Amino acid sequence: MGYFTNRRRLVVLMALLSVVALLFVGRWLNATKVGGQVPAEPFRIAGNFYYVGASDVAAFLITGPEGHVVLDAGYPTTARMIMTSIAKLGFDIKDVKVLLNSEPHPDHGGGLTVLQQASGAQLWASDASADSLASGGDDPDAILPLRALIWIGILGYPPARVDHRFKDGETIRVGPIALTAHVTGGHTRGCTSWSFPVRDGDRMLNVVSACDLGVLATSRYPEQGADRERSIRVLRGLPADIWVTCHARWWGRYRKFVASTTAKNPVDPFIDPEGYRAFIDAAEAELHQGRVH
Ligand SMILES: [Zn+2]
Repeated sequence: MGYFTNRRRLVVLMALLSVVALLFVGRWLNATKVGGQVPAEPFRIAGNFYYVGASDVAAFLITGPEGHVVLDAGYPTTARMIMTSIAKLGFDIKDVKVLLNSEPHPDHGGGLTVLQQASGAQLWASDASADSLASGGDDPDAILPLRALIWIGILGYPPARVDHRFKDGETIRVGPIALTAHVTGGHTRGCTSWSFPVRDGDRMLNVVSACDLGVLATSRYPEQGADRERSIRVLRGLPADIWVTCHARWWGRYRKFVASTTAKNPVDPFIDPEGYRAFIDAAEAELHQGRVH
């Protein structure tokens, strides 16, 4: 009798534990997909260059008379926030003609398919990024358990249709908009930084969107160290009045946005060549200390 009671207790306990575990897994999956992102106020950085990303995963809109460009798309769920931000600024997602990406991890490449379906825009990517985007986030350089999670759809995202592949140094144009691609590998092989001029009033400002320079313990490839050395050199050589990167907190989105609301010229708080150098210096220090995150 006692045996059955204990056994029944055990069954009930196991069932309860399973439900709790499922709840936690569900919650974790949800958090992974939203990535902890909440909507952020969209704003003009300078001229035709706008912030349309979420609280941390960044996305940028560059507008022009012959169509617009969107750089990065966040997670699949972030894409909706990006579209809301574009509309809030008074632009039409259907006028977005080109989609670009910094790197194909789910927090920057995951939402491209959603943006592509809503806009009909052409997606451009470096060779290595193109393969990853088209496979829904698979990365041959990632460790096997991570790849397995991508294959079974837990970490991946809807595969994107890559329309064009570019080489290092190529310039992508939409009317007068011209963004130059710098393949700055290290974080991922195809990690792409972008440089472009923005006219703001009578000033021409050089903008650099630097790709992530950090190395993940979960993604390694033999040329990674050499790639990072080169990427740091390339980024150092780019003139940057305004700089951004794929995580908004790294370039001080909120701090600069708040400062811009009271500045005499709202663009001035975004002019930050010192911050750009500090970002590269930090990456170089990390590289030479051999740390990973
Ligand atoms: Zn990444």
